[in-house]
Amino acid sequence: MALTTIPARHGKALRLRRNQAVKLVNVHGTQVVDCWAWNAADMHEHMSMEATRVWNQRLNPEVGDSFVTNFRNPILTLVEDTSPGVHDTFMAACDCQRYARLGVTEYHRNCLDNMYEAVRDLGLEPAQPILASFNVFMNIAVQADGRTLATKPTVTRPGDYITLKAEMDCVVAFSACPQDIVSIQGQGDNTPKDAAFEVLDSGFPDLPPSSTWVPVTKGPQG
Ligand SMILES: [Zn+2]
Repeated sequence: MALTTIPARHGKALRLRRNQAVKLVNVHGTQVVDCWAWNAADMHEHMSMEATRVWNQRLNPEVGDSFVTNFRNPILTLVEDTSPGVHDTFMAACDCQRYARLGVTEYHRNCLDNMYEAVRDLGLEPAQPILASFNVFMNIAVQADGRTLATKPTVTRPGDYITLKAEMDCVVAFSACPQDIVSIQGQGDNTPKDAAFEVLDSGFPDLPPSSTWVPVTKGPQG
């Protein structure tokens, strides 16, 4: 299948069958792309960043890590990543209220509206607004004090990509983030740019879904 463009400041959604994958390409190397996913059979079940952090015990996913839903089922697994691996699971997707707080007085395109537009283009309806997106290529650094975050420009290169394998039949939405006020879009002038994706039937690492983390229990001897 050919690459589909995610136009700058806009969203695109797609359907994946279980064991298909989607390759998300940072065409210009500077663009943050917000990502959501839903169980195709039940739009109330969606990819959850908070449940995923519990599952993997990691701030950000690495190759081999799965994303899980609000019902704690694996939905996507990161099977390839040619980027430096800097992504974000913390920051809320941008929305109208965020731009208003940033001082924007007119309508500003935003990731949350892009998500709704993209999913509705498939004839589906998200069950609720989801601010907790997987922010692919976004550079949010934990500072040395272990608690403070720093919002930084992307560190990706043109053509860097990640591949997400579907663990269930699902719907995936991407938004080429329209953020042009907070400097997140790579080095330079912070201009939002196109990204692209490709649905794959094969040709990607066939990694199994990751297992949930469980604490090591101490035996009677300690
Ligand atoms: Zn955004």
